[in-house]
Amino acid sequence: MTNGRIFHSSFVISFHLFTHDYWMRQALIEAAKAFELDEVPIGCVIVQDERIIAKGHNLTEQLKDATAHAEMMAITSASAALESRYLTDTTLYATIEPCPMCAGAIVLARIPRLVFGAYDIKAGACGTLYNIPQDTRLNHQVKIIPGVLDKECAALMQEYFRKQRNV
Ligand code: ZN
Repeated sequence: MTNGRIFHSSFVISFHLFTHDYWMRQALIEAAKAFELDEVPIGCVIVQDERIIAKGHNLTEQLKDATAHAEMMAITSASAALESRYLTDTTLYATIEPCPMCAGAIVLARIPRLVFGAYDIKAGACGTLYNIPQDTRLNHQVKIIPGVLDKECAALMQEYFRKQRNV
């Protein structure tokens, strides 16, 4: 379940068993947990050395807390796990483009890499309305990989809002 190696003749080929798709599916599992709770279905996992160190899903209604976004939950959990406010050598996977608050938290935690699913045309702060993680006026920039499993990530959101309208 970690980095694998193939020994072939005199060559040693290292490869990653896990792809961005794989980790995004784990984030989607988190998003589904939010969906089951009638929360906006956004999920997040934080990965370090090919393993998940923290997970989170949106809990703003359950906790009556506007800051209880999936990414904030995961960042808090990862910081506790690593006993550090800086999450160096990690990748944060979020099903939806992070909002300004979460994008700010990603910068503050100095997360080096962000992978997200669908763009958020209403609140996205990682390329849509703003690009906070790559604003060179801030003291940390983040590599961004957008669009991973974007259709699945967006479909869960659409299903949620369709359900809300029909209640
Ligand atoms: Zn957010």
